[in-house]
Amino acid sequence: MSQSAQPRTGHALRPDTLCIHAGTHLDPATGGACSPIFPSTAFAYPNATGENIYPRYYNVPNQRVVARKLAALEQGEDALVFGSGMAAISTLLLTFLKPGDHAVFQADLYGGTQHFVTRELRAFGVEATFARDEAAIAAAARPTTRLIYIESPSNPLLRCFDIAAVAKLGRARGVLTVIDNTFATPINQNPIALGFDVVVHSATKYLNGHSDLNAGVVVASAEIIRRLAEGAINHGGMLDAHACAQLERGLKTLALRMQRHNENAGRIARFLQEHPAVVRVNYPGLATHPSHAVAAAQMRGFGGMLSFELADPGRVDQLLTRLRVIFPALSLGGVESLICIPSRTSHRTLTLAERQQAGISEGLVRLSVGVEDGRDLQQDLAQALA
Ligand SMILES: *Cc1c(COP(=O)(O)O)cnc(C)c1O
Repeated sequence: MSQSAQPRTGHALRPDTLCIHAGTHLDPATGGACSPIFPSTAFAYPNATGENIYPRYYNVPNQRVVARKLAALEQGEDALVFGSGMAAISTLLLTFLKPGDHAVFQADLYGGTQHFVTRELRAFGVEATFARDEAAIAAAARPTTRLIYIESPSNPLLRCFDIAAVAKLGRARGVLTVIDNTFATPINQNPIALGFDVVVHSATKYLNGHSDLNAGVVVASAEIIRRLAEGAINHGGMLDAHACAQLERGLKTLALRMQRHNENAGRIARFLQEHPAVVRVNYPGLATHPSHAVAAAQMRGFGGMLSFELADPGRVDQLLTRLRVIFPALSLGGVESLICIPSRTSHRTLTLAERQQAGISEGLVRLSVGVEDGRDLQQDLAQALA
């Protein structure tokens, strides 16, 4: 079996090049430029390399291709690819947390993760504290704390944590630090280089980028991934070879797509900020955003996600029905611009009190700015807000 973790060049390859070449499974039989697909669920045991290959062991070549590419992009040693972002997150938490353990989570988590922590994790006897900022995380730590978990930028308010500061906090206490890097992507931000232990992604979003696949990934040191794999084999949430091949194709254009996402979102954020129908725009690239300084120091681009609040919350439905290019839908990170109302979508399972605490008002609109021509997106919003 011929593999290329990275093409041998004598110098470290840059992210745009890694997106395309890192991890490719070179097929000596055909000399094809793309990794072949290995659909088998039955492999000779042991095979030529003495390995027992099986999709649920996360070691089919297509799974390894995507894992190597993402490890290279996130500057980790290894990775594990899952059937969804939630499969990656739940497997990670259930593997590294045991009854009696305590974990600290950021207060405005992705709704699905928040739901998992409050409804599932607590039922397993894991105690969870939600903390709003770096100081609250430090204050929440106990002798039984095993894990600190953040998202930066966060959904849907785009708040950013000082990643290096949280990493330092975890290091000092010997606590595993985990970050959901879905919104930033490895093109805009590399938390492992800033000291974090573990990066998780919903690969459903920017990594695949075409709104046609569910996947998740965990990137970390080889030792952490080895321990995670022990749990993951039991939980069984792997991604199959065909889906891995599709994800590999999506990843090849990640850097190219992110460049346009960054540009378009910056343009739309500035446009909305000047618009009289909008009272607030949440985008870390704006100097007015409370996290701007932190974001500017740790991100190479500010990403494609933004949210904004309408002056009249009663007009959100009108806005969504008037749009002609921007598509009202759940999810994010695809090539097409998607718009949704977090209080009715990603955060609908939270109680009203939980939503208010998280700062998710009824007039808040979340926009995943796609890679269309930014002028068309701006014109679409202008006519819908008029
Ligand atoms: C979508 C999302 C998830 C969950 O991923 P799925 O692929 O839907 O399971 C987790 N975190 C963030 C930030 C997300 O946007």
